[in-house]
Amino acid sequence: MAEHLRNELARSNISIRPHRILTLAKFIEPFTALAEPPESLLYLLIANLNPNFPSYHRALSALVNQAPDLPEISEKIGAQLALRGMALRETRLHAAEPIATGPIILDGFFTLSPAELSILEELARQTQVTVTLPDGPGAHAASARLLASGFTEQHLTATLRHPRRAIQAALSLEQEVEHIAATILERVAAGRQFREMGVILRVRDPYAPALETSFDRFGIPARFHFTDALSAHPAIQYLTGLIRSLLSGWDHADLLTLLRMPVSGIGATQEGDRLDFAIRETLPSHTLESLDQISLKCGAANFGGSGPFRPLLELTQNRLTPTDWYTQLKTLRNLIPPPEIPDQITHVQLQILRSTAAALTAFEKALDTTALALNTNSPITLAQFWPSVESALSIEKLRVPDHRRNVVNVLDVYEARQWELPIAFVCGLNERHFPQYHRDNPLLPDPFHTRERQQEEHFLFDLATSRATEETILSYARFNDKGDPQLRSFFLAEPGEQIQTRILPKPKVHPARQFPDQSPPTLRTLSPTSIESFLQCPFQFFAQKTLRLRTPPEKPRDRLNALVQGSILHRALAEDSLDQVFEEECYKNNIPRTYRTEAVRLELLRHFEAFQADRTWPLNWPRQTEQQFEIALTPELSIRGRIDRLDRGPNNEAIVIDYKYSAAAKIRERIDGDPVQGGLYLSAVERFFNLHPAGMFYCGLRQSVTWEGWHTTIPGLALGEARATLQELIETAERQAIEVFESIASGAKEVRPKDRAKCRYCDFKSICRVESISRASAHSGNPQ
Ligand code: SF4
Repeated sequence: MAEHLRNELARSNISIRPHRILTLAKFIEPFTALAEPPESLLYLLIANLNPNFPSYHRALSALVNQAPDLPEISEKIGAQLALRGMALRETRLHAAEPIATGPIILDGFFTLSPAELSILEELARQTQVTVTLPDGPGAHAASARLLASGFTEQHLTATLRHPRRAIQAALSLEQEVEHIAATILERVAAGRQFREMGVILRVRDPYAPALETSFDRFGIPARFHFTDALSAHPAIQYLTGLIRSLLSGWDHADLLTLLRMPVSGIGATQEGDRLDFAIRETLPSHTLESLDQISLKCGAANFGGSGPFRPLLELTQNRLTPTDWYTQLKTLRNLIPPPEIPDQITHVQLQILRSTAAALTAFEKALDTTALALNTNSPITLAQFWPSVESALSIEKLRVPDHRRNVVNVLDVYEARQWELPIAFVCGLNERHFPQYHRDNPLLPDPFHTRERQQEEHFLFDLATSRATEETILSYARFNDKGDPQLRSFFLAEPGEQIQTRILPKPKVHPARQFPDQSPPTLRTLSPTSIESFLQCPFQFFAQKTLRLRTPPEKPRDRLNALVQGSILHRALAEDSLDQVFEEECYKNNIPRTYRTEAVRLELLRHFEAFQADRTWPLNWPRQTEQQFEIALTPELSIRGRIDRLDRGPNNEAIVIDYKYSAAAKIRERIDGDPVQGGLYLSAVERFFNLHPAGMFYCGLRQSVTWEGWHTTIPGLALGEARATLQELIETAERQAIEVFESIASGAKEVRPKDRAKCRYCDFKSICRVESISRASAHSGNPQ
């Protein structure tokens, strides 16, 4: 607020030295020898007094500095602070002996505490003092005491501003903030500056994050006058994550979260992705040595054991005094690689750099505060010191300087008290949001105080709606995020105006070089499976084969998934041995030996033995397994694949058998669907193996052995569907393969699932936005 006042006075051509505008706390600093304690120090001292109930410490540390009604705790904390040359706010104010050097104006207070009033009375004896107080219930006691001590009162009842007022009702919170953003852009197009507009919130959540997102999408520069806990900054999360990992024995699963953070220097890079996947494949793992090997293999030596993390190991072996821990841990900031600063840096990038620098400086201060709070010369371990550091980090707020001038200001109603803007938006005018409904403080129950706070809500509403000089736009959402209707604020007397259309920002123009190359590669070879993938959904094929996106490796407990089980059974059938194959595949896929692994092995063994014992297949032709083939369908396209089993008949005919680790119903679905795979296998029999295609069968191995397929009438074969010829299957499959190839070559990649039920198993369901297609087609009445 002090900075805003400086800017306002400068714009109004009122010359005043910037340092003459300051907070009351700063003003009394030269007049008292007692320093102001950081909030985290109060928290840690309260925690030292009573180590139980951490949430109680937080509530108490917020109260103890303002409430003289906690004499016992205040006395104990005051004694601890005195040992450190500090004092609580009330004590500092009482101890201060201020000297006025000119007239004093006090502005921006909602009320004044007894100690603050004493300071004002002392100053009033020396110079002219002007105090502004709101005409609200909270300020009555302070006004009465000032009047009793000789102050005179001037009531400012005249309305200085007569802004136009409009009420907008949106369907949802998102639509409400989008409308605010669109209105801001309209006003800017009409000649307004961004700085002439502000958004006033009753409280920060949930509107501030929604506004931040919307303003970013609409390209509106904004400053949010709110602070976050220091512990929420990525740089601090990275450092605390590393120490937690060190203390818990370097669990690589924990390190994955840290690795993905851009602040690690490797997050959101290709090496980072490679290292991430490689670590996942080796989980569970705990040693720095193995991390070393993986990171070297992935070319990511700056995230690994022998590089930056090795020195941390020494920390767990040390016992140091809190002051020495402070000195030692200060060096942790070196674990954050220095940023590369490109030319033409954007404001957002600049803010990220500034906030990281501010967070690291605040991190050092938090370490210092922790050492001060523990105040002992006895050596302690890192495990004893670190919890207090984390507490301090969670209490301290991060303030990042932002000196931009032409921005929309987003502020809460208390901060807005001193603001005057041509255009003000007051949003969230719903019951229970504005006004809020207050309950007694559990530590200091006071019904009178609670009633006073409730009355204050109307005063805050008047305050928020009287900030604009030209236009006040009030808004509320008619439905909450669950779609339930919600009441608009009882403070709104006028009827609302309906907003029905959704507003979307103009798409951002990205520099061409930022787009990945989306031109389809020169495709020459396709497999039957990839053709089926395209037929199921072009986007699925595009993500998997063109972009070659990979899903992260499975967690250890999920590695023995259906795909791996299927490939184990396929190999076992080809090699006629399950146990050996199972062992080898478990080793290759790093599958932990658990109860589930053994259960799956027994299940596979049962299915394997059931197949061996099955006598349904009546032919005893010579068979070949795992037969590779490649056939050219056109000069540009060839099909490559592998046939599980090929049975050769006495007259140069052949039957293809494809094993599926599926139940009977799934095998039936294959027969009723597109037989592309089967048709292409039959084509390979003819073109590659120079045999007569006589049949194509799927053999289901799950639950019971099932056979489904087609064959030219073969004596003794009563399974499947007998046809005069299989030529139609072959021609249909070849034609589909060629059409698919042409579509791919022409760049087809639309999200168009043929079977919605299969989307459940698709690896790309989180990026294709198939749900939005559902909504769009529901609205247009066009079933997908
Ligand atoms: S989830 Fe469905 S729509 Fe999305 S890519 Fe996969 S198959 Fe296509």
